[in-house]
Amino acid sequence: MRPFFRQLRILILLLVLLFVAADAWWVDWRTARWNQTQWVAVYPVNGDGTALTQKYIESLTAEDFQSIGEFFMKEAKFFELSLPEPTKIVFGHIVDERPPAIPEQRKGLAVALWSLKLRYWAFRANQLDDTAPDIKMFVVYHDPATHAGLAHSTGLKKGKVGVVNAFASRALAQSNNVVIAHEVLHTLGATDKYGGGGLPRFPEGYAEPDREPLYPQRFAELMGGRIPHSRVEASIPRSLRQVLIGEQTAREISWLR
Ligand SMILES: [Zn+2]
Repeated sequence: MRPFFRQLRILILLLVLLFVAADAWWVDWRTARWNQTQWVAVYPVNGDGTALTQKYIESLTAEDFQSIGEFFMKEAKFFELSLPEPTKIVFGHIVDERPPAIPEQRKGLAVALWSLKLRYWAFRANQLDDTAPDIKMFVVYHDPATHAGLAHSTGLKKGKVGVVNAFASRALAQSNNVVIAHEVLHTLGATDKYGGGGLPRFPEGYAEPDREPLYPQRFAELMGGRIPHSRVEASIPRSLRQVLIGEQTAREISWLR
């Protein structure tokens, strides 16, 4: 190849990289200022291919996810965020293809590759939409009768995409919403605040770390995940009514400075 064309090709590649970096920086900056509502689109996926799960996801509407938006509004008010509605939860559409499975070992090259694959998959799944949400949450449903436990859920800050494994059950819809809200906050930069055995870390994983007596706690901290009953016992919140956002999480998502 002639040097001119080679240089031109390198220049174009550099411009693309610069554009990608600038775009990521711009998204982070805009989110961190919280002067604009973040649109969160929920896309249901049939995770086990059963007719029961299909029927369930076809019955879902935006209404089923509103407790998430209401929760963020209530918490934003508590932290005196000037934006009254930090997130708007919208219903995307059913996605037929399952997202790439989360690797067992959650570190290293496998995770980096999976993260790229997931972002590409999310880009394709959402290509035909006329809306461009800020955050995409793919909720993969499973029949609770045949799936006692679920694989990990995840939320990526880069690409602002999350995959939530959930139960196809009306009775568990509100606890699914707790997991969705948790993963939404990961996409906004919040970190996990639980340690071994899934127990919330003290004090950052506690909703009311100053409460006296400390136990039992009344609420779970969203990124701590569970309601601590004692130093060694904690339970999963049944709905977002049993959840609060703690100070450290609020700092991580720039609600507190
Ligand atoms: Zn987490």
